[in-house]
Amino acid sequence: KKANRKYKAEDTIINIGDIHFGEGNFHVFSGPCSVESKEQITEVANRVKAAGATVLRGGAFKPRTSPYAFQGMAADGIELMLEAKRETGLPIVSEIMNIALLDLFADVDILQVGARNMQNFDLLKALGRSKKPILLKRGLANTIEELLMSAEYIMAGGNDNIILCERGIRTFETATRNTLDISAVPVLKKLTHLPVIVDPSHGCGKAELVEPMSLAALAAGADGLIIEVHNDPANALCDGPQSLTPDQFDTLMNDKIKPMSEL
Ligand code: PEP
Ligand code: MN
Repeated sequence: KKANRKYKAEDTIINIGDIHFGEGNFHVFSGPCSVESKEQITEVANRVKAAGATVLRGGAFKPRTSPYAFQGMAADGIELMLEAKRETGLPIVSEIMNIALLDLFADVDILQVGARNMQNFDLLKALGRSKKPILLKRGLANTIEELLMSAEYIMAGGNDNIILCERGIRTFETATRNTLDISAVPVLKKLTHLPVIVDPSHGCGKAELVEPMSLAALAAGADGLIIEVHNDPANALCDGPQSLTPDQFDTLMNDKIKPMSEL
């Protein structure tokens, strides 16, 4: 199968603007869980860029557990992400839940398939027909094999630009939001040529665990990280408890990750 190392031995490189993702350099995607306002995304984008992030994240269509929770700014959120992209020059990643909205994502550099849609096979097939890089997140209760089969759905349609993301799985443990499966990194790197990143924010659900789990992911051989940063975590509309402040993110990047990697 196409994602298998036996099919292709060399690591797949994903080109996103000037970034050659999967070439050995470690890349950190960062930004808020959700775009909330022009001021918020502008401030966070500038701060994460200054700290060394190479891709800006920000959700506009949010797959919330409760229908009464903030659902994202939708098309306005994508527009604000595009403005932040123009202002900072950072490529952007945002989650797509409905393929009917693909045109809205025309200038979004990486399309995120969230954990809850990892096995939305119609969405995967449709994304296979697009040429855009896809960030495919592991489902809440899916095996590594199932994650790879979902990547195959996209590749079967002709799109090989896939970044896999370990973001924690459901276990009996309640001390953390999910259980971050760090071992998935070396397992995936052996099984597939696709790049693998780790999301310690959703993986743990607690800001204080983001630093140790980021370093663990780096040590385990991940190609990068995706980290949530908010300018005011206490008042965030989504995922505040797991969000780093810009200062905390800067410390993580420059005092911890940089000395350990070719950032
Ligand atoms: C997110 O990245 O904001 C998100 C909703 O992640 P996941 O799909 O991994 O829960
Ligand atoms: Mn989130």
